[in-house]
Order: sequence, then structure tokens, then C-alpha cells
Amino acid sequence: MPISVLQYPVTYLANVGLARAKLLKENMGISTYGDLLMQFPSKHIDRSRFYYSHELTPDMPYVQMRGQILSFEEEGIGRKRRIVAHFSDGHGIVDLVWFNGLQYVEKTYKLYTEYVVFGKPTIFRDRFNITHPELTELSVWNGMNSSSTGLRPYYSVPEKVQKRGVNTRMMEQWVQTVFRLLHDEPLPETLPEHLLRELHLMSRSEAIRTMHYPQSAEHLARATYRLKFEELFFIQLNILRYSRERNRRYAGHVFSRIGDLFNEFYYHHLPFSLTGAQKRVIREVHDDMRSGRQMNRLLQGDVGSGKTLVALMTMLIALDNGYQACIMAPTEILAEQHLDTFRSFLGDMPVRVELLTSTVKGKRRKEVMSGLQTGEVQILVGTHAVIEDNVLFRNLGFVVIDEQHRFGVAQRAKLWAKNQTPPHVLVMTATPIPRTLAMTVYGDLDVSVIDELPPGRKPISTIHHYENRRQELYKGLRQQISLGRQAYIVYPLIKESEKMDLQNLEEGYREFCKAFPDLSISMVHGKMKPADKDYEMDRFVRGETQILMATTVIEVGVNVPNASVMAIMNAERFGLAQLHQLRGRVGRGADQSYCILVTSFKLSSDTQRRIQIMCETNDGFEIAEEDMRLRGPGDLEGTQQSGIPFDLHIANLARDGQLVQLARDVAKRVLDSDPDGQLPEHAAMWQALAELNRNSVDWSSIS
Ligand code: ADP
Ligand code: MG
Repeated sequence: MPISVLQYPVTYLANVGLARAKLLKENMGISTYGDLLMQFPSKHIDRSRFYYSHELTPDMPYVQMRGQILSFEEEGIGRKRRIVAHFSDGHGIVDLVWFNGLQYVEKTYKLYTEYVVFGKPTIFRDRFNITHPELTELSVWNGMNSSSTGLRPYYSVPEKVQKRGVNTRMMEQWVQTVFRLLHDEPLPETLPEHLLRELHLMSRSEAIRTMHYPQSAEHLARATYRLKFEELFFIQLNILRYSRERNRRYAGHVFSRIGDLFNEFYYHHLPFSLTGAQKRVIREVHDDMRSGRQMNRLLQGDVGSGKTLVALMTMLIALDNGYQACIMAPTEILAEQHLDTFRSFLGDMPVRVELLTSTVKGKRRKEVMSGLQTGEVQILVGTHAVIEDNVLFRNLGFVVIDEQHRFGVAQRAKLWAKNQTPPHVLVMTATPIPRTLAMTVYGDLDVSVIDELPPGRKPISTIHHYENRRQELYKGLRQQISLGRQAYIVYPLIKESEKMDLQNLEEGYREFCKAFPDLSISMVHGKMKPADKDYEMDRFVRGETQILMATTVIEVGVNVPNASVMAIMNAERFGLAQLHQLRGRVGRGADQSYCILVTSFKLSSDTQRRIQIMCETNDGFEIAEEDMRLRGPGDLEGTQQSGIPFDLHIANLARDGQLVQLARDVAKRVLDSDPDGQLPEHAAMWQALAELNRNSVDWSSIS
């Protein structure tokens, strides 16, 4: 059975001993012949094209040239010792450079012999250089390429592995060996025949071969498409299968009534009318709540779009049906602010709302805990302290998680144990996530979107200042403060250099105190005692201080509608999502607000782009899309701990949006047609999925 070739360990290959095998496994995830085949070339090189020395430019990733070595020369001493071959292509000289294996080089390569040289050109002392080039004698090279199309695979090898002598050539030979051993035996198929036909997909076997040896660019594109689809399809299949399984296993509490509390609030306590988007979302949530299925819904809404009110009103629905509700916030400040907000919204309504954070201690804590058990406490507001095992509810029916990116899947799952029938869950996030990413990262959640801000808000005006224009910043601040407004000044916080950041903040604080001797300025940072921090925050919230200077502790959620300026210092050190979050702290009142991005002069092109986007748009979704393009989806907040079941190898969530959607639709259909995984034509597919899951997160245990 030649297929078992795929299971051979790489140590069976020429040039792979135990040390290299370990290296390949640790750095590239390769342990078997099969793994090797899945290591696709990062590009293909048109080996039919030769460059002349006068055509070279330093930004070429690699070139292929033809010519002869005229002479060898040893240069440098110590670690810089190198051998240089002066290589002529008949038009000019290029230096070929080796830093190790000097003797080998001189012995192996012959003078005045036709070679094909391959490598990356760089400029050194006004001359083009190729360091550690690949050299093949022309006669040998002709033999290698005679049958192929000229497109040769180029395998990227991590530097660590390269250092131990593994290069693209070697990879190429190994891959060739594996294919030779397989003869024409097809590689196993993982997708059902009917999908291949319907979606016009290449077979897996042809796709994998083509990835290495395409006949044309178009051929390669078809192979890539097939493999990307497969990758995304299995992710969706996994996510949807578990969420369906969960729905089957757990019924949901049925909240059929919209009752007295909701109506009383809606008709007599709501200080303004809801936006259309808020109404729609409340309806979507309520539809879920009475469906008999347990709700898992993600609510996305830009900063300031009014999510808190949606949380409160949907919690009232739970209360009207005889259940308790709770909301978890990521920080104590936020939890306290939610408590205040709820209490003031509810006014004299007969609803008992209590706070539970790590600062609620002793007798008070006991009271809250017992109130939860008797059911007298109807709404609990807290930090993650509320999911501790010893917090017991009488009848918890609904949980809201504010600012999702601070909570992982595992924490979400803990909530499920709080009642025999797990509560409905609404996850609220102000960090907009591009749709395709949401479908993958939060694929098990249904999504609601608030895409409308409360009326009367003026768009925030965003301005970029270089740091030497401090006086202008002061002038702008002074002007706003003279109008009775308040301002935030934010400094970046980077964990590795927390000390330095603190210095920056403190230095800034002194400068601002000097510039504004007549004003009161608050300062908060993560190193302060919670009580001191709260005290300073409080003074700002109550308008006793005009300026709040802070590290990013204020990032999430504080609400001071009177603040109209957000100045972000060293803005180049913030990511787009963070900048947008921070900016959302202002623009909450009816007057014009400003966001000032202060940066140094030296900006990378990515940073320039970030600043430019911030100045151009206030739309969180647009910003999120751009963020994903700039950084790649893997780095976006929330993706790490969210538990994408397996790594993406070739698909890209930023670029393959349509494929994500297709994969999801197809996965849904497959599950509809084969809910129990019993159809024989799907056997290989389920087996492949099981294999993918074997080494990744145990999803069944967390959701
Ligand atoms: P976020 O979505 O960022 O959590 P909040 O819920 O804090 O936003 O709302 C921001 C501000 O907008 C709050 O002061 C809130 O009272 C106010 N707000 C919410 N909904 C409306 C509305 N429909 N009309 C006017 N103001 C609203
Ligand atoms: Mg909020």
C-alpha cells in the first residue's frame, strides 16, 4: 500500500538525521512524508527567465543568472571572513559571497564554467552581491528543467532551519522523492464527491501535486482555491457541528413574556427614544429568548452606540419571566459605572441591582451572595468575580458579557454551569470585527449589529500633530476647557517597559501642570491602588478636574459625555483598534469633539497609514477591515484566546472573505443533510475532521 508512504518518518530521507528531524518538527511541523507534501512552496520561480547584471535592482526578491566565475578571493577576518567569487554574465560582474564552508566552495565550484546562479541580489560597496547563492552547472540545470514548465517551487525555510543547511533545493529534492515513491497513487480525498462536482473543485490529490508543480499560474490558482476552501470548510463544519450539538443537548429557558418591568421602563423611564438599531437588536434577542434554544449572540456596536441600554432592557425581559440576570464587565471601574447607569436609568422601579467585584468584601459580600441565592438580587453587575464557583444564583437565566475581547471561550463556558439549563448569553463588543473573522472566531455565535449612533452626535474630528507642535495642542485644549469641556490625555502602555511608560506619563503630567497652572488635572495608571485610581477617576467623572491624564487603563468603556478632547500621545505605538476605542471616549455629547493624535516624526509606512485612516473615518467597521489588512487576522484582539480550532495554512481571513461565506453555507447544508454524520459518502470527511481536531482544543469540554 504505497499510501502508507505518507506515514514514513522524515528520517528515511537522504540528509535527514535525528537532529534535522527534530528541527523540522519543531520549526515547520514536519515529521512525516505526508507533512512534507503539505509544506507548500511560498512561490514559484520562473526558471526559464535569466536576468542580466545590468537589470538587477536591490528590491528583487531573487534572480536567476547565467555565467562564469572569473576568480575567488578571501576577504575579511574573524566572523566576517568570507569567500567572494567574481561572477561574470558577460555584461558585468556580480559578487557571490559565502561566509562559511569556504574550502568547500573553492573546491566545488570551477572557474570558467557555465553556471546557473540563483539568489537574492543586494548592494554592497556599490556592487551587486548574492550571499549564499544556489549554483548549478548549466548542463545539470538543463537536465533538471527539460521536462518541466519552467515553474519551479521555492520553499521558504525558517532561518533557524536554514542555518542547519536546509534550503529550498533540499526541500525540493525531498518532496520529489515522496512523489516518486507514491508513483501515481492518488492522495486520499477528504471532501465528498458531490461537493467536488457541485463546486467544480479539483481533487485533493491533484491540488496538492499542483501546489508543488503547477502547469500555469491559473492551474496553481485552482489548486489554491480548492485547498483554501477545504481549510475554511472544515473550520465551519467544526463550529457549526458543535453549536448544533449544544442546541440539541441543552434546551433554552423560554422567555415568552414581555412583562411589567420592561413595559414600565420603556414607557415611563426611558429618557430618550431608542434608535432603530437598538430596537431591532432587542427584538432579535427576544426572538432568541423565546425560541426554546439557548441563545449565544454576539452584539457588535461601535463605541457609544448604546449597547448598555440594550443590555439593561433585555435583562428586564429575563426578570419579567422570573429569572435573574447578570452582566460582567472587564474592569472594576466599568462594573461600577454600569451599576450607576442601571440604577439611575431604573430610578424608583422595584428592581434590585447589586455589585460584586473583588473590592466588595465582608458583610456586604455576604449580603449580595445570599440575595443571589434567595433571588432578591435580580440583576448582578460585576467583573469576572461573578463567575467564581462559589457565586450561586437562585435562577440565573441571562448573562451579558461586556467587551468580549477580555473574556475567553473558557470563561464564557464557565457560565454554563450556573444553572441546570444554561443561561442565555449575550456577548457585547465594541471592537468591531470584520464579518469574515467573526464568522470564524465567533462562528458559534449569532451576530447582531448596532450600526447607528444615537441622534445628534457630531462626528469626531481627528487631527494628526507632530510632537513638536505642543503649543498648538495646549491652545486647542485651553479653548475647549474654557467652553466648560474636559479632556483626556492618554499615554501608551506597553508591558515590557511599564516603568518607562510611567515615566513618560509622569513627565507629561509635570509639563501639563506647568502649562495649565490654573486647572485641576487627574492622573491614573495601572500601578495605582484601586482606591486611589477610583478616587481620581471619580473626580474627573464629576467634573472636578478638567484634564484626565492616563495610561490605557481608561481604554474600555468610561462614559463622561462632557469630555470633548482625546489627545493620544505617542499615537504611533497604538494599534488601530485601540486608537478607535480611545477616540470613542469623546463625542458622546452634542457638541463637536476632537481627537488629537500626537506622534514623532519617524513613522513607518504602516503607521502613517493607521494615522491616515483614523483622520479619514469614524466608522469602526471600516477601521476593523483595514486593521485586518494591515496586521493580518491572527493579531487582532480576541483571536488568540477565542480558540479557532486549527491553524490556517493557506486561507487568509482578510483576503478570502467570500470563501469563508461559501464554506459556511456549504457546511450548513452538509449538516442539514447529514445531521448525525451517518451518510457513507461523508465518512472520509468526518474522519478528516476528527483528525484535525485530535491535536487541538477539546471543544466539547468548553462549549
Ligand atoms: P456603548 O455602546 O459604547 O456601551 P453606551 O451604552 O455607553 O455605549 O452609550 C453611550 C451614551 O449614549 C450613553 O450616555 C447613553 O446613555 C447614550 N444613549 C444610548 N442610547 C441612546 C439613544 N437611543 N438616544 C440617545 N442617547 C443614547
Ligand atoms: Mg459600553
